[in-house]
Amino acid sequence: MENVHEEWKKQLVKCIRCGTCRSVCPVFKVCDNENTTARGKVKLLEAVSEGKLALTPALQARMSKCLLCKACTTGCPSGVKTDELFLSARKALAAENGLPLAKKLAFTGLTYRKLFDLGLKLGAAFQGIVFKDAPDGRGKLARLPLPSAGLSQRRIIPPLSTSPLRSRLPEVNKVASPQGKVAFYTGCMLNYVYPEAGEAIVKILKAHGVEVVIPARQSCCGTPAFTAGDYQVGRYLAEENVKILAAENYDAIITGCASCGSALQHEYSAVIEDPAVKKLWENLSKKVKDITQFIVERGIKQDLREVRAKITYHDPCHLVRGMGVSQEPRQILTSIPGVEYAEMKDAAKCCGAGGTFSMVYYDVSRKINDWKLDNAEKTGATILATGCSACRMHITDGLGQRDSAMKVLHTAEIIAKAYGLD
Ligand code: SF4
Ligand code: SF4
Repeated sequence: MENVHEEWKKQLVKCIRCGTCRSVCPVFKVCDNENTTARGKVKLLEAVSEGKLALTPALQARMSKCLLCKACTTGCPSGVKTDELFLSARKALAAENGLPLAKKLAFTGLTYRKLFDLGLKLGAAFQGIVFKDAPDGRGKLARLPLPSAGLSQRRIIPPLSTSPLRSRLPEVNKVASPQGKVAFYTGCMLNYVYPEAGEAIVKILKAHGVEVVIPARQSCCGTPAFTAGDYQVGRYLAEENVKILAAENYDAIITGCASCGSALQHEYSAVIEDPAVKKLWENLSKKVKDITQFIVERGIKQDLREVRAKITYHDPCHLVRGMGVSQEPRQILTSIPGVEYAEMKDAAKCCGAGGTFSMVYYDVSRKINDWKLDNAEKTGATILATGCSACRMHITDGLGQRDSAMKVLHTAEIIAKAYGLD
């Protein structure tokens, strides 16, 4: 623990208490409590590192009240790496206090890839027992409150697909005269929840003339586990994924989910321990690209089909501040004939999903989401495009709660339409 405290101190000492992080923190805006800001958390961790405060369950709860949206990290004039600091604190707190049994079991389940796959397929087949269709057909509603799964009866969630992406498509998706070979890391949500978006990504990649390998042995990226502090599971999943993705020499590792992409590109640095795997990751991380980055690098196709729609775009935190992707989706959307693009105010502000944050603090995350939806609706757009499945799920729920006619799509689904691939 001493070493951890020394590492923390290198960051803590940089904080000049300026409070810039207060002005950008969505959780602070709702809760109006200094402890929810980065500055407040820095102070608490300082007390821990000086031996004045223990790693108590109460501190664990405070540290979990954070979206890990990186707004404070990006905005900090002193360069305090608050994102890394908070993850490290969650790791130490989980090691000290453990995690709730339901969470621990769910995370451990992720390490049994085949069992997890079977569980979700069975879940998809029998989801009608626990969930019913939402009245507007946007998704499902729990028949009974499921607090251990973070589900109230009003929360609209997308159904599990009875035909996941990786069972729809072959592992190797060939093209005539390939101009390269890429791996598509689907992650869980594109595989089990939004397979149509995943299919759109594969079609786009093939249209760009590359062979697309969807490694069958890929696992969850581990983000839900290590962001909750479970580095044992997070490390296992990260190391497995790196070994599988490094087994072949791909030109790029394509992602279509911001959290998976940011984990593969950045967060794995603090999660992987095996030095040999770390070396593999250092090389691999440079190849990780969001689908929109890949398209722009290769050149947006000419002769795009007309897509008549007014569209706005939401920047997922892990895409804009994690992977540094913001211009690419806009560049593509605005080049599609017929698309009337309308930028929303504060497009890069967090939507309130924050991984499991919205399950634990649903009411707070709903209020944060409402600001996003107010700004989105003011544009008059009928479609909100985004590149993160968790954002899509949370925004869709919010739109359902307010009976909005706006629809959420993955940016790739709109691009596939413009490419004539739908
Ligand atoms: S913005 Fe950075 S330096 Fe300023 S109070 Fe927050 S963490 Fe400290
Ligand atoms: S990561 Fe986001 S939610 Fe967490 S303290 Fe920073 S600004 Fe607030």
